[in-house]
Amino acid sequence: MKNPKVVILGAGYGGMMTTVKLQKLIGTNEADITLVNKHDYHYQTTLLHETSAGTAPQEQVKIAIKDVVDFSKVNFVQDTVVSIDPKAKKVQLEDGELEYDYLVIGLGFESATFGIKGLEENAFMISNVNNARLIREHIEYNFSRYNNEPEDRPELLTIVIGGAGFTGIEFAGEIANRVPELCREYDIDRSKVRIITVEAGPSALAGFDPELVEYALNKLEAKGVEFRLSTAVKEAKADSIIVEHDGQQEEIKTENFIWAAGVKGNPIVEQSGFEVNRGKVQVRPDLRTPDYDDVFVVGDCALIMNEESGRPYPPTAQMAMQQGPVVAQNLKTLIRGGGELQEFEPNILGTLASLGSRDAMGVVFGNKKLFGWSASFMKKMSDNRYLMKLGGIGLVLKKGKFDIFH
Ligand code: FAD
Ligand code: NAD
Repeated sequence: MKNPKVVILGAGYGGMMTTVKLQKLIGTNEADITLVNKHDYHYQTTLLHETSAGTAPQEQVKIAIKDVVDFSKVNFVQDTVVSIDPKAKKVQLEDGELEYDYLVIGLGFESATFGIKGLEENAFMISNVNNARLIREHIEYNFSRYNNEPEDRPELLTIVIGGAGFTGIEFAGEIANRVPELCREYDIDRSKVRIITVEAGPSALAGFDPELVEYALNKLEAKGVEFRLSTAVKEAKADSIIVEHDGQQEEIKTENFIWAAGVKGNPIVEQSGFEVNRGKVQVRPDLRTPDYDDVFVVGDCALIMNEESGRPYPPTAQMAMQQGPVVAQNLKTLIRGGGELQEFEPNILGTLASLGSRDAMGVVFGNKKLFGWSASFMKKMSDNRYLMKLGGIGLVLKKGKFDIFH
């Protein structure tokens, strides 16, 4: 009898945790496991605001897949998924086609643009390692241009962030730390640089603890970040954006516009005909799609309702990495002939946001609020904890964060 074919799409948090758990749970003679990813590395999306600002080297963020996945047990295919045909049980890749008996979709997220005019063409987005690097290079290039232009062009030194959710706030913290370095390097007076965060809602980090939000805003304002609340981005142009506040429109000149105002599930899922809710598959408790018993969805492509609040859980790496082991366990059960499948129960350990490399704030252990050094320490420990789960102590020593005592 032929081994069942398990295909895992995407080497993000969900896909990687599924793969490394599954390779331990079953023998090579039980199933053929294939992992498909665009690149031969996994990247820590949770650090992309640092890559974008230029405060963390990209080598820290990228992890070679071969360093954590056992290629004697898993067939790795470096390719791009184009579409999925769940009825025919096939996956179309740019350079081929795969058949499966069981599929795990972990294709992650894209920035949501809400149809706002000019965003696709003129905004930079923090959604993968390549566009994060582009942001770093672009901002640095504009600083290097400033003293070489015949006229004063303040838009080269104006950095505008669209959205004050967690991504916008974390990027603001990093770029505020990076700006003094850039000013020294390119002979620019710090007072000429502006960092403006534009947020449509009346508050940053909507729904988060108000005391923690106030702490974050005070700390970022002290570093020179300006906040424009209740102000929505309406349009992005090549050298400016249009915002609206109280029905009044205003143009802000900038050549560094970073859009960080929300995410959506990878559109391949919807385009492949899966039933979606807000672009994501509202999975069953065992993480399978409503329509297909052989397809699991993990990470930002999956929607999971929080029964208490009546709203979906925010898409986070924390959720994705907890789903991987559940899917691996369920695959093992199915491969071995069936039985009761495990249900996924999120265990939210906390939410922490960095405000630059040495400051942070957030909640841990249910309701314990942390500020400053202790929050920053916990945030770094949680990044290291993920590395431990993924690749053990060797990976922590190679890619971990140890700048914790200053
Ligand atoms: P992703 O991490 O998005 O990975 C998807 C993978 O699929 C990638 O390897 C990609 O290359 C690959 N892929 C995509 N399309 C294709 C294709 N067509 N073909 C082949 N491969 C493909 N969450 C937290 O819990 N804590 C945090 O501190 C935190 N910080 C964040 C900071 C930033 C700046 C951002 C942007 C997000 C942060 N998040 C955080 C959210 C978290 O990063 C996401 O929820 C998480 O990355 C989702 O994981 P995933 O497994 O769904 O996929
Ligand atoms: P988000 O949806 O959490 O926040 C987006 C923000 O952009 C909102 O405040 C929204 O009001 C604002 N916005 C939307 N349209 C706008 C417009 N036209 N003009 C101005 N502002 C606008 O999205 P995010 O910050 O990208 O985060 C995505 C996911 O990743 C979330 O689930 C988040 O929890 C997670 N994340 C977590 C962390 C962390 O835990 N440290 C860090 C980053 C991201």
